[in-house]
Amino acid sequence: MADFEKARKIINEADAILITAGNGFASLDGFDMLDEASFKIQYPDLVEKYNFKTIGDALDKRLSNWDEQWSIWRRFIDNYSINYQASSMMQNLKTLLKGKEYFIATSYYIHAFENAGFDSKKIFNIFGDWTTMACSSGINHGLKSDLQIYGVPKCEICNSEMEIHMPLTAHFYPDTDANTRLRIFITNNESRKVAVLGLGVDELSPQLLEPITHLVSQFESWHYISADLCITDLPQDVAKRSIAAESNSESLLEGLIS
Ligand SMILES: [Zn+2]
Repeated sequence: MADFEKARKIINEADAILITAGNGFASLDGFDMLDEASFKIQYPDLVEKYNFKTIGDALDKRLSNWDEQWSIWRRFIDNYSINYQASSMMQNLKTLLKGKEYFIATSYYIHAFENAGFDSKKIFNIFGDWTTMACSSGINHGLKSDLQIYGVPKCEICNSEMEIHMPLTAHFYPDTDANTRLRIFITNNESRKVAVLGLGVDELSPQLLEPITHLVSQFESWHYISADLCITDLPQDVAKRSIAAESNSESLLEGLIS
């Protein structure tokens, strides 16, 4: 059971808050990329024609026909990003961060934090964001928004087809600008009081867990608050400066703002 009072104190006293949000957060926000039952109901034609089982599965299996490929991506982007509705959990996170210095590092790739009103300059989508696209040539020709694109977009530099910016191929280039902004945030806050919140981050999101707990262990004025883990899941030197709610992001955020 989480010690909310202690966690609230850490947040209130923090100079800055670093949010890490993994797939567990995404599914509680209403986007479960592994949900077979809803996929079957929502995309019976994709199940029948391509044998896709989930959104994750559909993203993994690339089609050779770009028109078909983009029409499927377009449907996903429209359904989940253009028509995005922030959950009450997401609203609670906004309330929590109001007036605070923050940064968000996330594997949630549907542009949800941006759509929910967080500052896009304070977000690093570590696994990309399907509302942006990159050149499929394998050369880094930059990132562009695909929100206004219909049909098959082409690279302005080499005329290759563009693809959604996600690590679905061997040539995924992370968003270096956002990565740099995260590094600056970390450097600027090394010796300040930082509360790190792990939301939907567990052993299945090692990219958001290990490097981050390493930072907490390195910087003595940093604290870690995990929504999902129990205290014994954390390295010992991190555990003594941590709160582990052993629950989920929804109940942690509710407890933190109440
Ligand atoms: Zn190109």
